[in-house]
Amino acid sequence: MSLDSLHDLYVDELKDLYNAENQLLKALPKMAKAASHPDLKAAFTEHLEVTRGQIERLDTIFKELGEKATGKKCKAMEGLIEEAKELLEEDAAPSVLDAALIASAQRVEHYEMAGYGCVRTFARLLGYTEAEELLQETLNEEGEADQKLTDLAESVINLEAEAEGDEEEEEEKPVAKKPGRKLAVARD
Ligand code: FE
Ligand code: ZN
Ligand code: FE
Ligand code: FE
Repeated sequence: MSLDSLHDLYVDELKDLYNAENQLLKALPKMAKAASHPDLKAAFTEHLEVTRGQIERLDTIFKELGEKATGKKCKAMEGLIEEAKELLEEDAAPSVLDAALIASAQRVEHYEMAGYGCVRTFARLLGYTEAEELLQETLNEEGEADQKLTDLAESVINLEAEAEGDEEEEEEKPVAKKPGRKLAVARD
């Protein structure tokens, strides 16, 4: 495809986002299934529903533009999801896996926020007021999802993951063999 104008770039970036959202539609149920904490499961399941709405907004925008939504693969989202999948293959403690899933999901949300921020600004410049509003709504939702993950991590999940490490340490014992951990133990 040729990028001869900001409009071309706008459509290209929208296609990238459309493909990214559709990849997430498949990945989010797997992340919900892998999560242990009920609040994290709920957050992923809720964002799955939000994601459906975001795809509908993009459908509306493409229809208005008279363009096809398909034809582009978001390799970045593919990579982010691939990394999340690698986590699921690890032999991880449940709360540590939860913390890891949050870290993955926040990378995804930030990637989306960057993408939607750009297309929202392009829409504004190009005079697509309705699209600008739709894209801003989605941008806000991605920001809310990111904030929710931060809240969950900081209020409970990171703490549970940290406690998990302590338990293992007690079981394994000889602390002397792990001089690197001594400081952390002494601090408590
Ligand atoms: Fe999204
Ligand atoms: Zn992309
Ligand atoms: Fe990476
Ligand atoms: Fe999202």
